[in-house]
Parts: sequence; C-alpha cells; structure tokens
Amino acid sequence: MRILILGGTGEASALARSLAGRPDLSVVLSLAGRTAAPKAEPVSTRVGGFGGSDGLARYLGAEGIDRLVDATHPFAATISANAARAAALTEVPLLAIRRPAWCRSTGDLWNEVDTMEQAVAALGPKSRRVFLTIGRQEAGAFAAAPQHRYLARTVEPLGDLLPVPHLTALEARGPFDADSEIALMRANGIEIVVSKNSGGAATYGKIAAARDLAIPVVMVRRPEKPDVPNVPDAEGARRWLGLCDHAAPSTLRAV
Ligand code: NAP
Repeated sequence: MRILILGGTGEASALARSLAGRPDLSVVLSLAGRTAAPKAEPVSTRVGGFGGSDGLARYLGAEGIDRLVDATHPFAATISANAARAAALTEVPLLAIRRPAWCRSTGDLWNEVDTMEQAVAALGPKSRRVFLTIGRQEAGAFAAAPQHRYLARTVEPLGDLLPVPHLTALEARGPFDADSEIALMRANGIEIVVSKNSGGAATYGKIAAARDLAIPVVMVRRPEKPDVPNVPDAEGARRWLGLCDHAAPSTLRAV
C-alpha cells in the first residue's frame, strides 16, 4: 500500500514514524517547505507545493498513491481543501487527522476572534506587552498596531516580517510546558497573549500559564476545513489504514 501523508505537524510525524520500516507499505511524507531544517523522518520525504488541487491529483496518479492522509495543521486550510478536491477527482480514499480544538476552562480570559485583523484590533489602542504566538506567516498583521511591545515566538527566524519599534523575537520549537511559559511571561511582563486555537498538548502550556496568571488571551478561531472522514490522532489514522495491532490492554481493568 502506498500512502501519502500531508504533514507539517506532530501528528504527521507520529504517523510516519509508526509506519516506517514496514515492508508492506511505501510511505511518503509531504512538507510545504516552510521550515529550513525540518526534523529528519524515517520515511521518504518530499518538499514543496503540488500546484493546487489539480497538481496534487496528478501527483496521486503518477505516484500510484492508494491512501491519502491529510495531517496538516488546523490553520492550513488551502492544502486541506486541495486534498479533498484531489481525492474526489482521483477517487483515492482520503482521511483527515483533525486535532480537537482547545476548550475554554474556568478561569480562562479568552476573547475569541475569527481573523488576525480582529486579533490586532482586540489588543486595543493603549500600549500593552503582548506575547505573540501565532507563527511567522501572519505576524505582519500586527504592524498595524505599532504602539504595543511584542514578544514574538516563532520556530523560524521572524526576520523583518513584523516592522514595529518594540519587538523581542524569540526562536524556539515546542513543546512548552506551563511552568516555563509562566516564567517567560513573568520575565517579560506579559499583559496579553495572542494565540491560534491550534489544539494539542505541545503548545497548551501558554494557555494554562495565562489562566494561572489571570492574563487575557486573544484566541483566533480555526478556519473551516472540508467535511471529510476524520479522526483526532495518528492512532485513529493507523486504524483507518487497517494497521492496528490488536494487542491486549496493558493495564488491568479496575473492578
Ligand atoms: P496552506 O495555506 O493550507 O497551504 C498553502 C499552500 O502550501 C498549498 O496550497 C500548497 O501548495 C502548499 N502546502 C501546504 N501544506 C503542504 C504540504 N504538507 N505538502 C506540500 N505542499 C503543501 O498552508 P499553511 O498554513 O501555509 O501551512 C503550510 C504547512 O505548515 C502545512 O503543511 C501545515 O501543516 C504546516 N503548519 C502550518 C501552521 C499554520 O499555523 N498555518 C502551523 C504549523 C504547521 P500547492 O497549492 O502548490 O500544492
């Protein structure tokens, strides 16, 4: 079985790792190419766009792909729409891994918005110390609010994407736990956090930290993704692929 995984996420890497080395499978992990030095994976990897849904459909046919797994990030809406269309065109079975969104808990001070422009406006006119954790691609939107002091954390260097007078750029790759996020926010006098509702455990630390410190969070809601068969994690994808080992539970059931 030849499987194409559309990646760029922890779930895609976890699935690729769990399928690596099986003689009955041929797995290709596809990355957009946004990260200069992506983590090495034990399956064959291709990098760069396909050229829209038609390009992806051509790739599926040319490479003899039997199963397509869309394991892209919740905010990567274009590639997911392309995957749905390409799968329909080629009749290649498609599964999406859709990581559950974070839910507001007691004590969370969230202001939920739909766009980055609304997130910028939600910071208000008064200068504040902002922890910007939305990645680098859309950071430029915050140049419209140069009165704030930004601590911007990205995986890749931010470069000159956010031209504002008060900017501290921090390069780091998660996971980040709540204690280190509390320390970071305290050290930088953070007054408000801007986050995408990415979901997952790896970056939830900042949300828990903000709740602990009673700091408000501007939470950007997810874009719409196509309505296709989906599972919440890599384990669900293994099951869909028919590859689950039916091992006995490792713990005894309480009586
Ligand atoms: P996007 O807006 O949905 O996609 C833009 C274009 O990038 C697509 O049309 C496609 O080009 C190409 N592309 C995206 N993902 C690809 C993949 N896995 N393999 C090959 N080409 C891909 O995506 P994005 O928001 O820019 O995100 C890019 C990548 O970063 C995704 O793989 C995503 O999983 C990862 N990522 C995104 C975020 C985020 O916040 N957006 C966060 C973490 C990781 P063609 O049309 O030419 O095929």
